[in-house]
Amino acid sequence: MALTFHTDGDLGLAQQLLDALSSGKATITAFVVGSWLQQHPDWAKKLLDHGHELANHTQNHRSFPKLTPVQMEAEIVECRDVLQRLTGTPGAFFRPSGTANGTDRPSSAVLDAAGSAGYATVLGFDVDPLDYRDPGTAAVVSRTLATVGPGSILSLHFGHPGTIAALPRILDGIRAKGLEPVTASKLLG
Ligand SMILES: [Zn+2]
Repeated sequence: MALTFHTDGDLGLAQQLLDALSSGKATITAFVVGSWLQQHPDWAKKLLDHGHELANHTQNHRSFPKLTPVQMEAEIVECRDVLQRLTGTPGAFFRPSGTANGTDRPSSAVLDAAGSAGYATVLGFDVDPLDYRDPGTAAVVSRTLATVGPGSILSLHFGHPGTIAALPRILDGIRAKGLEPVTASKLLG
């Protein structure tokens, strides 16, 4: 199964999450918001140095369903260019922002915009504990472990203390099911 994180927000919390991932010996696919990475360029190397994979989660995290095709492509291209400049690669995956869930097939407008920007894969997710709503650590853990299985893609978020606190139990629980938490590239490669 793959660990994917929406990546932006408070740097102190980001550092805590990075430390928790290191302690748990887990690597993730970090779907970075381009404007955040642009403001904190040292985080590109920081994430890479810890073995994490960077991916495109739009430049400004606007509500994608409300954008025109031209605006969609601009959001993807801007983030792609930040990734390319700071890491030497645009990354393998794009994930839109502001979608209702991670399992609906993306609209053809989204797929076309991603394809034009060079992304063959728009990556969704099937395990969504809604950690960004801060439901509490116990809920984040139990919702995740109730639905995760072989081949699952888990969606979590930087910037939420409850998620950081939940991480050790999530990793333990995933491994107790006989699953190995890996990056999206490793899962799909
Ligand atoms: Zn997001």
